[in-house]
Amino acid sequence: MSPSEALVRFENVQKSYDGEILVIKDLNLDIQKGEFLTMLGPSGSGKTTCLMMLAGFEPATSGEIYLENQPINCVPPHKRGIGMVFQNYALFPHMTIGENLAFPLEVRKMSKSEREIKVKKALDMVQLSGFADRRPAQLSGGQQQRVAVARALVFDPDVVLMDEPLGALDKNLREQMQYEIKHIHERLGVTVLYVTHDQSEALTMSNRVAVFDDGIIQQLAPPDVLYEQPENAFVADFIGDNNCLLGTVISEAEKSCVVKTDDGSEIEANKVNTAGVGSRSTLSIRPERVIINPEAGQVPNMFQATAEELIYLGDHIRTRMTVCGSNNFFVKIPNSSHHANLNKGDTVTIGWNEQDCRALNASD
Ligand code: ADP
Ligand code: MG
Repeated sequence: MSPSEALVRFENVQKSYDGEILVIKDLNLDIQKGEFLTMLGPSGSGKTTCLMMLAGFEPATSGEIYLENQPINCVPPHKRGIGMVFQNYALFPHMTIGENLAFPLEVRKMSKSEREIKVKKALDMVQLSGFADRRPAQLSGGQQQRVAVARALVFDPDVVLMDEPLGALDKNLREQMQYEIKHIHERLGVTVLYVTHDQSEALTMSNRVAVFDDGIIQQLAPPDVLYEQPENAFVADFIGDNNCLLGTVISEAEKSCVVKTDDGSEIEANKVNTAGVGSRSTLSIRPERVIINPEAGQVPNMFQATAEELIYLGDHIRTRMTVCGSNNFFVKIPNSSHHANLNKGDTVTIGWNEQDCRALNASD
């Protein structure tokens, strides 16, 4: 990728707050113009720190950040053309909604008539026209967050940073707002860098997701690739439901390998990043890819399993099984399936395909 294609570029960026511990290790990340890119990771993994450095509120300890090919380390925050939305809205309580929205425009010395046009447009965008004269306290949480989104966009920034903006909202409203933000992004074509620890939010909204752990990007890929082709055990576990079986690689071919679990089961797997015959490997298998009572020869991996616990979840039954030496192996049985009447203590044959079983290096 040539430098001219990226709107934002982090190049070898490191960050330490105390001069000792690097909370961002060596960040290299290109964000394309118009892209919706999400940083997804557990609390403390360094997501907010990245946004603060890009916005200009924290200096990078080393490395360089570029905006449209220009290094921005010496550019003050208000000259970076970046809008921001935080979890706690951060609206000015003493100002009306209209004044809140006009504020970024005043800072940028826009004329009154221009301000009025832009404020009206921004309110329309988040379906709050008619609310201009209210104060933030007179709005619901969801409405306040819409205003915060409108305020971040009102001055037509090149990039909008959103740090867990929906974290304070309840589940239904959060899901509704995910779609609203996604649609605003599609309509405006603005570049969004979004931060969340919620994987379904990341998968719903993003063009690409950077999975963070411990100040390092573990994998950067579109949602479907992250889910279908996790590159390591952290990503496999963090994105979606996942089963892990631990074993030793006993043979290898170009794209596949056989892993023997500690109870002696031999499993054919898709070789992802194993470290050779004799090395330890974690096998990653999604619960919905496990087949109950497969026909003879249907899949290469077939084992006897015992149902230990069945949890009714409406559209499916989450079944914990003992198989291949693990008693923590989950299988998702659709409620419509005739296997849905499996009982606790039943023994069944289960199986899965080689390509649905990813062999990952366990020494990562
Ligand atoms: P995230 O947003 O992924 O939860 P942060 O970027 O907030 O992670 O934090 C990354 C690490 O940096 C954490 O260990 C956190 O304690 C530390 N940290 C964040 N902000 C500061 C600060 N202002 N001073 C010192 N340490 C900080
Ligand atoms: Mg944070």
